[in-house]
Amino acid sequence: MRKSQLYINGKLISAKKTYIRENPATMEPLQEVSLASKKDINNACSSALTAFAVWSKTPPVVRGQMMFKIANLIREKINILSLINTQETGKPINESTLVELGGVIRTFEYYAGLATKIKGNSQVINHELLSITLKEPVGVVGQILPWNFPLLLAAWKIAPALAAGCCIVVKPSELTPHGTIELAKIISDCGVPNGVVNVCPGSGEDAGDALVKNNKISKISFTGSSQVGKLIVRNSAANLTKLSLELGGKAPNIVFDDANLSSCIEANLRGGFFNQGENCTAVTRLFIHKKIYNKFLKLYVKNISKINQEDPESMTSQMGSLISSQHLKKVKQCVSKSLSQGGKLIYQGKIKKNLKGYFYPPTLIETSSSKNILFKEEVFGPVVAIIKFENEKEVVAMANDTNYGLAGGVWTQDISRALRVASSIDAGYLWVNTYGGIIPETPYGGVKQSGLGKELGSEGLEEYIRTKNISIFTGSSLPSWYGNK
Ligand code: NAD
Repeated sequence: MRKSQLYINGKLISAKKTYIRENPATMEPLQEVSLASKKDINNACSSALTAFAVWSKTPPVVRGQMMFKIANLIREKINILSLINTQETGKPINESTLVELGGVIRTFEYYAGLATKIKGNSQVINHELLSITLKEPVGVVGQILPWNFPLLLAAWKIAPALAAGCCIVVKPSELTPHGTIELAKIISDCGVPNGVVNVCPGSGEDAGDALVKNNKISKISFTGSSQVGKLIVRNSAANLTKLSLELGGKAPNIVFDDANLSSCIEANLRGGFFNQGENCTAVTRLFIHKKIYNKFLKLYVKNISKINQEDPESMTSQMGSLISSQHLKKVKQCVSKSLSQGGKLIYQGKIKKNLKGYFYPPTLIETSSSKNILFKEEVFGPVVAIIKFENEKEVVAMANDTNYGLAGGVWTQDISRALRVASSIDAGYLWVNTYGGIIPETPYGGVKQSGLGKELGSEGLEEYIRTKNISIFTGSSLPSWYGNK
């Protein structure tokens, strides 16, 4: 069985505590995972701090060149990385290769290009005073990851931090550590000095908590649940650590009666069931105008029933297993609760008999009550709530009736209505007449309880940079204040 060790200062190290992680699609043992202790985290932070003296002074052009190399080496190793990713998560191999690893490569290339575009400013305050601003890396950053897109989300955090000149301690989810360790080894193989990227798998309570509280850390970038996000805000207060938080979502997708139905069905299949619905921007509340409700429902169900849920390592698999037995239990409980609260089961697929892992079938539930659990809580599984609406005002109010504000979508041929509704939705990332696909060039992040700060785009790079002002006196002598000559 393979080992997922810690990667500290360019070396693989076994932790004292380990556990056996299974493949969620087969329930067979997959790897022995090292769980970092507080001491391991402290060692990783010290290595990163030592490396910071070198990496922060490495010319941006050299950092960028190394990052282009990293993108190329990932491209060469795409098949093995995709397989690791699929075995750890249970997601279809095609989604791992084409979407997740494809996104990882694009992200490294995008930030490789941005490494040389970081620049400050200068301003003549008056004829004797010049002010310049310097853009500096924030320091050592702690990055805490969830399990749903282990490699993509690692790239969204590691690439901008490297471009900015920061050093990194990553804590992947204890369920999906191995891909991130392989990624760190690739980064070292491309010339990035030891200690710049360290990876410490471990539990949230031990390793995550120790990272958040470590006083060598200047910034924490966290992706995960809103519940843990709030805990991190509290725990980072002692050191006033800079934070960015990418948290949960409850995305609405609003379909008006003039929508292009075939595109809309395609997008909602991806929106609801891609990555088994374990996706923070998944369409979880699908609002359909009453005039097209029946037609939409018929077409949507017909297409959902064709989703091929099978062994995720098969090239024809379109949907795999959930991440763990615990998560499967949670999804089942949410569905039962929704039905007990008046939700109506419109469609549920059947799990093939040969599948042994934590599979849950695509599920569609009709609901009208905003009190239904599917309106309020993140299920994080292949479960879509479908809701009929009558007019724009009513649907915008329903869409915003949530503590979350991550993403959403609008479907209409009326450009004014599209912009009006998209602007009225209280969320950070909106799509019009398409859904899904977050590209590195665009700033991504939530509002309300979906998060703080941005990832991706130039805004994502800014999160790893601090601004210093230097004012320079350019006159021959300072004016006297105390009357001294
Ligand atoms: P989680 O919050 O349970 O865990 C996320 C990470 O935090 C894990 O690495 C975990 O070990 C760590 N952690 C747990 N307790 C901690 C603590 N006390 N201190 C420090 N770290 C701690 O989330 P999850 O179950 O891994 O992932 C699913 C969640 O992630 C969903 O809510 C989903 O919406 C969210 N998510 C958000 C985005 C986004 O971009 N907004 C993307 C993916 C996932």
